[in-house]
Amino acid sequence: MFEVDKSFHFEAGHVLDHHDGKCRHPHGHSYVLKVTIRSAELEKSGPKKNMVMDFSTITEVVKPMIDHYFDHKWLNDTLESDSPSAEFMAKWIFDFLESKLIGLYSITIFETKTCSATYIRPLA
Ligand SMILES: [Zn+2]
Repeated sequence: MFEVDKSFHFEAGHVLDHHDGKCRHPHGHSYVLKVTIRSAELEKSGPKKNMVMDFSTITEVVKPMIDHYFDHKWLNDTLESDSPSAEFMAKWIFDFLESKLIGLYSITIFETKTCSATYIRPLA
C-alpha cells in the first residue's frame, strides 16, 4: 500500500458556541490541512508513471475549496455550523473531496502545531 500526503495552510476564524472554555469566544487559527491519498498500485505508464497521484493534481482540486470556504473566512458561516471544530472540519472536507479525489483516505486538520483531528475513510 502506498500513501501520499499534501499539506495546505490557511487562516480562518470561528467560535464554538457551546464550548465551556475559551473557544466560546470568537478567535482564529493558522490551520494546516493534510490530505492523504492511498493506493495499492502505482500508475503503470505515461506522465504519472510510478506515482499514486501527482501532487499538483491534489492542489488543483483542494485549492479552490480552500479559497471558497476556508481561507480568511468565518467558518461558522461558510460551513453552516455553530461548532466548526477541527473534527467537524475534517469530516466536512472529507465529504466535500471524496468524489473528487480517487483514493482519498484521510483528512487531518491542525489547529496548532500540537493539536490536530483526523477523519479516516470508514471501512467498506
Ligand atoms: Zn478554535
